[in-house]
Amino acid sequence: MEGIATNVVSVRPEDVATCVSCGLCLNDCPTYRILGDEADSPRGRIHLIRQLMTTTAAPDPSVVTHIDACLVCRACETACPSLVPFGRIMEGAREEIAHRRPAGRLRAALIDLVTHPRLLAAAALLAWAYERSGLRRVARRLLPRRLAEMEALLPAAEGAVYRPAPRADADVQLFAGCLMRSSFGDTQRSTVRVLERSGLGVGSPQDQVCCGALHAHAGLGERSRELARANIASFSGSNAPIVVTAAGCGAHLRAYGELLGDEAARRYAARVRDASEVARPPGARRTLPRPARVAYQDACHLAHGQRIRREPRELLRGIDGVELVAIADPDRCCGSAGIYNLTHPEIARELQRQKVETILAARPDVVVSANPGCILQLRAGLAAAGARVPVVHLMRFLDDPSSALGATSSPGRADRGA
Ligand code: SF4
Ligand code: SF4
Repeated sequence: MEGIATNVVSVRPEDVATCVSCGLCLNDCPTYRILGDEADSPRGRIHLIRQLMTTTAAPDPSVVTHIDACLVCRACETACPSLVPFGRIMEGAREEIAHRRPAGRLRAALIDLVTHPRLLAAAALLAWAYERSGLRRVARRLLPRRLAEMEALLPAAEGAVYRPAPRADADVQLFAGCLMRSSFGDTQRSTVRVLERSGLGVGSPQDQVCCGALHAHAGLGERSRELARANIASFSGSNAPIVVTAAGCGAHLRAYGELLGDEAARRYAARVRDASEVARPPGARRTLPRPARVAYQDACHLAHGQRIRREPRELLRGIDGVELVAIADPDRCCGSAGIYNLTHPEIARELQRQKVETILAARPDVVVSANPGCILQLRAGLAAAGARVPVVHLMRFLDDPSSALGATSSPGRADRGA
């Protein structure tokens, strides 16, 4: 490709060349649908990235704005007939921009906080105490709208922190995650039980680290690769499948081969499985006290990033009493997208509002998803809409569907007026 500066290493020219500018992805792009600007569409962003690659100069701030506004939801990959690897292109472009504008040190330091499990555990404990003390209810009434929206996303710890425990004869290795181990401890313990009931011995290496997805999305490529190398070493004691319960982590772990380009990374990536791919339906061992309408919300990085849609639904259908109800556009982004709901609150809020509207139209008793960020975003959105519909992780629901349903202290469906 003529005109491409030779020092640009982050974006692969052959990836960008796959886009034929047909525009078939536009209507599937959440930011284009909301903002209505070609520069905020996949085609528009690829055009900007092509321009970025022809120079070594610092990018125009407006280019950075359009690149930053991408959710990296990868819905455009599903829509694209030319198989454009948009997620990889976008991560490369952001790394390139970070190289040319090294002003984001504070942002990088903040993102790197997720790599400190003890810090996250302490934060989750504080969030739990804050909720239990009643301060949260008071704060919600007093905080200005913007702060109240951020506060609503605060993940209060769900039970104790999950502590990875190695096991020499494990059939599968559980990836502990950052938010999953600190704020979704009960879900991780549910996952272990579900896998054990599926006939699998579960281990989990103690020295595993953050997957690096947030870093890669923010253009912090070198730190992301460093974390990838640490995880590959940590899981090198066996060849067992690596089971993941966070869609964003799973999609990124599967990309380690491309990220590092060596054989060890490719072998690691080939071992990665979403928990829904290895769990078996609980069948008659777990039943519901009454029939329940269950809405399943696809996480972008499961549906678009890993092409996993069927397995979670089959597991849910395998539970007696579950009526799986469809929601419109189930794989459209809910606006969570890592830290997007903090960096781009207006767009995230609109996506959250649309998602809540489609969920309430389906009149579910419970909403199930397989990604912690989506779960927090949907909980906050449903609460803001005055609907007390519980939102739980797929593994928690499979482990104990009746307790997930019992969390419905809401008025009946008819009372919600949906
Ligand atoms: S990303 Fe794919 S669908 Fe979108 S314009 Fe390019 S080739 Fe067409
Ligand atoms: S990743 Fe999502 S937000 Fe970004 S261009 Fe593709 S569809 Fe649009």
